[in-house]
Amino acid sequence: MAQGQVFVLSGPPGSGKSTVGARVRQACQDLAFSVSYTTRGPRPGEADGVDYHFIGRQQFLNKLAQGEMVEHVEVYGNLYGTSRQAIAQTVEGGRDLFLDIEVKGGAALKQAFPQGVFIFLVPPSPQELERRLRGRGTESEDKIKERLARVAFELAAARDYTHLVVNDVLDLAVADVLAIIHGDRLRAHRRFPELRRIWGV
Ligand code: 5GP
Repeated sequence: MAQGQVFVLSGPPGSGKSTVGARVRQACQDLAFSVSYTTRGPRPGEADGVDYHFIGRQQFLNKLAQGEMVEHVEVYGNLYGTSRQAIAQTVEGGRDLFLDIEVKGGAALKQAFPQGVFIFLVPPSPQELERRLRGRGTESEDKIKERLARVAFELAAARDYTHLVVNDVLDLAVADVLAIIHGDRLRAHRRFPELRRIWGV
């Protein structure tokens, strides 16, 4: 069976990554979503096992020590990581996998899956980015400053991604990401098993 593809979506805070990711997952139901482990607490509306696996710090460190994470990172004082086994099971089982992770994780996955699709979502301008971060109204000034300070670091990583999408108008950004996914699925080497099945070539 042909392997599934790995689609990574990264972007600085305020790029609209979670919103775009949620819309893409809704539109592409055959795409498996990688549920990360994190030590941060759930936000209102987030469910354990759906948005994240919420675990304690010690539990996370144990998983790390056992080599259970294909990549991990500490952001804003919380640990985040992707399960090696979950990724392998999905991809080796022939399903495409969608991951919403930050840039260090993106770089680690590029090492593990050099043939993967790495999409970087860019906010339209620094002014709009700051407006979005403040507009959320959910975060303290300190947290906003912390997130703004991270933006330059994240943007510098954009050149290592295979695709760039500007999120000015949400619908267009979602359409761009869907087009990238669709385009990859149309690549000849991905279609060959189907061709072989139908035409026996
Ligand atoms: P949040 O706490 O806002 O859900 O996520 C904070 C950041 O961590 C986001 O940029 C998100 O993409 C990233 N993130 C979530 N899960 C993982 C993961 O498993 N690995 C890495 N490297 N980053 C992650």
